[in-house]
Amino acid sequence: MVIMLTAGQATASNQDVLAQYNMLSHSGALDDLEALRRENRELDMLITDAATLIALPSLPAMLDFIIGRVLEHFIPEFLAFVIEPPRGTRLTQFCYRNLKPTEEVIPLDCYRKVKAFFSEKPFATRFEAIPGDTSDYPGLAAYNPEMLFPMVGIGGLYGLVVLGRKVVGGDYTELERMYLDRLTRFLAVSIQNGLHHHSSITDAKTGLYTHDFFMRRLEEEIARMERHGNDSCTLMLDVDHFKRFNDSYGHLAGDEVLEAMASVLKSVMRTGDAVARFGGEEFCVLAVDCDETGAMEMAERIRVAVEQLRVPHEGQDLSVTVSVGVRMLDPGIEPKQLLDDADKALYSSKAAGRNRSTLFRAGLLGRAMMMRGALSSVQ
Ligand code: GH3
Ligand code: MG
Ligand code: MG
Repeated sequence: MVIMLTAGQATASNQDVLAQYNMLSHSGALDDLEALRRENRELDMLITDAATLIALPSLPAMLDFIIGRVLEHFIPEFLAFVIEPPRGTRLTQFCYRNLKPTEEVIPLDCYRKVKAFFSEKPFATRFEAIPGDTSDYPGLAAYNPEMLFPMVGIGGLYGLVVLGRKVVGGDYTELERMYLDRLTRFLAVSIQNGLHHHSSITDAKTGLYTHDFFMRRLEEEIARMERHGNDSCTLMLDVDHFKRFNDSYGHLAGDEVLEAMASVLKSVMRTGDAVARFGGEEFCVLAVDCDETGAMEMAERIRVAVEQLRVPHEGQDLSVTVSVGVRMLDPGIEPKQLLDDADKALYSSKAAGRNRSTLFRAGLLGRAMMMRGALSSVQ
């Protein structure tokens, strides 16, 4: 906008200022200034958004945030976040129609073809500029994409944002495209950060937590119970005669059993609980807000579920059993002590014949009771 001041509106002392202002105004520099201010505001917003995004704790929280920000700018008919996790061969996808979650998916072969293109040119690209025609990407073309944004991290390209046309308001403006491009770059870093963090605290074979992460959770839970006085417990589990199982059916069959067991363990846990693989065929569970009766019921539920588990392998239905040691959390107890005690209870279960659960009891009498299997469940 150009504002012209006349000499009549100005005092004698600001004649020079007036002259300079009018000169700038005539040259169009003031319009440029306004555009620069607008861009500055956008960048400021983007930096704030990026800082918020990077601090978010989970992928769903990051995507919710992005959806909220996109909604403030425009509504695309279709929007998809396609992510290639570091482990496994399946894509993780989050698709939205009019910014509402939908079950639609981008087929893996389309993703691979587009990935090949972006591996060479990792920049935001209009869909129509991708080599080949729509019949080369039928599963992607069906969503009428307008723009594709590659997600690039340390290991190269690992995902894609697919942006459909705007519901209203015609084409995307240059500023809108740029905003989404920059936001996608930050999102790519945040997601990769989250994925790597998740890989670092989980076991590759079973997806359960690692020993280190479990110990941290245990410390937090002991501190929490000291503050709030709630009951919590740990369960230590070890597969019975697993060496013999491997010798009979092979290590691959053993691995399949461990994966199936991990699914059983995950299915019995509630939010706030933690399940870890302690290496080999040993697992540990932290169950929060659970008293002694609840802890023993949970141990038995797991034991029976494992006993009933059937793992198909080369035409046979294989099964295993598991022994369990249970230790309630005490205020101030060291995590290592807690696990040693749970291990003693587990040892009692083994000594009493395996496929059973034992609750740890302190003191001589308690130990004697444990060793006699007096507190063990009946098979
Ligand atoms: P027990 O009833 O006393 O526990 O007998 P066990 O044979 O299970 O003895 P132990 O717990 O000491 O043996 C662990 C065995 O588990 C040794 C190894 O063959 C097997 N194992 C450990 N990790 C894995 C794994 O990742 N995959 C497979 N298939 N087997 C494993
Ligand atoms: Mg073992
Ligand atoms: Mg064992």
